[in-house]
Amino acid sequence: MSSLQLTVLGSGTSMGVPTLGCHCAVCESGDKRDKRTRPSVLLAYAGRNVVIDTTPDFRFQALRARMDRLDAVLYTHSHADHILGLDDIRPFNLKLNRAVPVYGASETLAILRKQFSYIFDGEPVESTLPQVEMHAIDGPFELFGAKIVPVPALHGPQPVLGFRFGAAAYLTDFLRVPDASKALLEGLDDFVLDALRYRPHPMHSNVEQSLALVAELKPKRAWFTHICHDLGHAETNAKLPENVRLAYDGLQFEVQL
Ligand SMILES: [Zn+2]
Ligand SMILES: [Zn+2]
Ligand SMILES: [Zn+2]
Repeated sequence: MSSLQLTVLGSGTSMGVPTLGCHCAVCESGDKRDKRTRPSVLLAYAGRNVVIDTTPDFRFQALRARMDRLDAVLYTHSHADHILGLDDIRPFNLKLNRAVPVYGASETLAILRKQFSYIFDGEPVESTLPQVEMHAIDGPFELFGAKIVPVPALHGPQPVLGFRFGAAAYLTDFLRVPDASKALLEGLDDFVLDALRYRPHPMHSNVEQSLALVAELKPKRAWFTHICHDLGHAETNAKLPENVRLAYDGLQFEVQL
């Protein structure tokens, strides 16, 4: 059976932790696991690197993870903390001498075309542009021999996609998961999911809501991500059930495909 290596490139919420201008105990913490860049994961398999989202920290994350190539990007949705690193794929275009395939819901691709109009407007430029090949997701698809299953959810009123690959799934930026999507999340070994903070939020699942979803779906292990500075790593972990942990930048595990 083949497998992939999942690396959490970033486990933080949109503002990152430490948060600019904040001096709370978590932002000032000396624990490396309290340093959270914006949310993204790397899937490495079959000699390829696939990232889910390109955050404003993408360049730093790729350097830190010693990523030497980029073969595809899967987008969850078009919020700034998930897309703004797109321009930084250029060195990988040059190194591999090809466009990077980009997968997302058609609404997400439309916003990428707008936010990064300079990539798509066909105007002549003297500088390097990111080269992308856009693929609208309309159901499960195969990517370098792995089956990628999109998992639609709701981020407040906005649709968002999670992704299942083999025995793991990544679902960030959601508040509600429709029943049809819950069926796609059965029998997981590892479930990486949004849990912003303890207090409720109009667009994000909180610790209590994510624990309820974990209890319902029963993955072997769950990892909370998109975490804000309300949750200190060690003190929060001490209160969570044994099979639920906060993700942290650099967390790695193997996933059966
Ligand atoms: Zn986000
Ligand atoms: Zn803080
Ligand atoms: Zn979002």
